[in-house]
Amino acid sequence: MIAYVNFYIDTDTHQIHEFGCNDISTGDNIYLGIYRNIEIALTKARSIGYINASICKSCNSFFKIR
Ligand SMILES: [Zn+2]
Repeated sequence: MIAYVNFYIDTDTHQIHEFGCNDISTGDNIYLGIYRNIEIALTKARSIGYINASICKSCNSFFKIR
């Protein structure tokens, strides 16, 4: 199953989260767009300057069990 999900990057931690993640901060988040998986969102984040961006562990494990 292919699901398209909204992704955000936390501008403080530079962690990438999917919409609805419990670990996403309520502070400053930048919308990255809709992607099939978090690796694509990571590539996008790096392309716009967040070269140290990383994947949220909660989101990552969530994707693995799908
Ligand atoms: Zn997350």
